[in-house]
Amino acid sequence: MNAFAENLAAVEAAIAAALKEAGRAGPVEIIAVSKTQREEKLREALAAGQRVFGENRVQEAKAKWPALKDRHPDIVLHLIGPLQSNKAADAVALFDVIQSVDRAKIARAIAEESRRQNRRPRLFVQVNTGAEPQKAGIEPDKADKFVKYCRDELGLGIEGLMCIPPADEPPAPHFALLEKIARRNGLPALSMGMSADYEIGAQLGASHVRVGTALFGARGGG
Ligand SMILES: *Cc1c(COP(=O)(O)O)cnc(C)c1O
Repeated sequence: MNAFAENLAAVEAAIAAALKEAGRAGPVEIIAVSKTQREEKLREALAAGQRVFGENRVQEAKAKWPALKDRHPDIVLHLIGPLQSNKAADAVALFDVIQSVDRAKIARAIAEESRRQNRRPRLFVQVNTGAEPQKAGIEPDKADKFVKYCRDELGLGIEGLMCIPPADEPPAPHFALLEKIARRNGLPALSMGMSADYEIGAQLGASHVRVGTALFGARGGG
């Protein structure tokens, strides 16, 4: 077993234990967050059978993934970082899932590119559950209206919600809030939980967790 495979087995076991404790069935899909990781690390993950990956920058993903996607057509690539409308064309072309839909301008750009390219990535709306000024995501009290706008005005299929809780607060209330907003909008998917808190995410109903360092080790060129 390579290091990634060992880490993946540990994360899977921790999720299974967390689900059992919460009396939940799952499944919880593990998105391996590969931002800043070298190609060698990506190959290790692919060799371990991992196929679902997350990147937070369009340009970086464009440099890393197309060749690997050609070789492994079953790779599923999630965009988990903020999206600018001038990158919408690249994002729609490369990503299978865009988790950072958070404002009308971006939603319109995605809708337009989806038509133009005849490619429909799966979409999540990012919610800024802590209403932090510097953080991406729609504010919680505007989420219902925004989801409705995406669906009814733009014809976009929204699959679920994503959040990144404030770094200095316990994540559970934020995950619970995200679950509540998803439920009242009839959204089945919840992307919540990172290396430090994916078990809590799983216990509170995550369908997807985004795990970077717990799988790949430290970031930063390493
Ligand atoms: C980097 C990142 C992650 C993974 O973070 P780790 O703490 O390394 O697991 C998850 N979600 C988003 C949006 C990220 O940018």
